[in-house]
Amino acid sequence: MNTSARRVIPVVVLSIAMAGGATIRVLSDQQPQPQQQQQQSPLGYEDTPMQPNGKWHIHDPKRPQPRVVTPGPAGDPIPAPSDAVVLLGNGADVNAWQMVTDGSAVTWPMKDGVLQSGKGMIQTKEQFSDVQLHVEFATPSEVKGNSQGRGNSGVFLAGVFEIQVLDSYQNQTYPDGQASAMYGQYPPLVNASRPPGQWQTYDIVFMAPRFSAAGQVERPATATVFHNGVVVHNATPFWGPTEHKMIGKYLPAQVKGPVKLQDHGNPVRFRNIWIRTLKGYDE
Ligand code: MG
Repeated sequence: MNTSARRVIPVVVLSIAMAGGATIRVLSDQQPQPQQQQQQSPLGYEDTPMQPNGKWHIHDPKRPQPRVVTPGPAGDPIPAPSDAVVLLGNGADVNAWQMVTDGSAVTWPMKDGVLQSGKGMIQTKEQFSDVQLHVEFATPSEVKGNSQGRGNSGVFLAGVFEIQVLDSYQNQTYPDGQASAMYGQYPPLVNASRPPGQWQTYDIVFMAPRFSAAGQVERPATATVFHNGVVVHNATPFWGPTEHKMIGKYLPAQVKGPVKLQDHGNPVRFRNIWIRTLKGYDE
């Protein structure tokens, strides 16, 4: 691939210290990039297709960075309600999961209810359609890498719709790829990330897509997501399944699928994952 097609966008991040420890990031493409802030991972792409509404490129670095909101403090695991299927509990049980590649036993290290991402993606053995999903995760406390190279994993609904996991605490990347983004499609409404190493929560209401008998989309998949108790998507439709630098095509098989957790080469920890199948009123 030629270098101009994948060039790093020459954006410098300047952090301005604020009272209370928060920072404001100011973007500038005028100033040279200091050595210590050399980006190893692209801050975005402008050689990608436009998103279907024509506003931004997929992974556009110029899309506004979501406003930072400080969530409430991290707490104990949030207990599963009685009708939930516990996918990751207190012990060492990872029986609900398997490797995506061949369905073999999960090789990610698991200790005392904490599963750390390892080599290869994992998925639930069970398939789901419309769900409420609770996930707790922590990106590495030792900060390494930047942009998409820092604390990257992901939670996939129906196997193909990703809610991004990333260390987005004072870590600039393209907005549609930061923590809790509908990856490549929508940034979170606000950035409610906790600092690296702290436990964070996703509470996701996911409605799987529906198709006509002829295979036409009757209802796109939608996601409502709370990140650390803060709403970041509000019944937002996916344009299609998640892809890098493009948007995938809807297919009738996506009406159900497993929950997947992504291996993106960073050791992200997970605990206390539970799921509830959603039904309609009076069902
Ligand atoms: Mg990811």
